Amino acid sequence: MRKVMDCREYPSDIGCTLTITGEEDEVMVAAVQHAVAVHGEEDTQEFRDGLRGMLKPDVPQHA
Ligand SMILES: [Zn+2]
Repeated sequence: MRKVMDCREYPSDIGCTLTITGEEDEVMVAAVQHAVAVHGEEDTQEFRDGLRGMLKPDVPQHA
């Protein structure tokens, strides 16, 4: 099952709308790099734990 990280649900003052989808480990790598580069976050274990908790199952949308 793929996971989704949606920046719109992440507290941010830059209005980021990025979504990252993939296997959980892939999303984590990309999301940490993105958060450090764009959101100025620090790559810490605590941050990674919080980030992992934000991931949601990639449920296909049937709009
Ligand atoms: Zn973002």
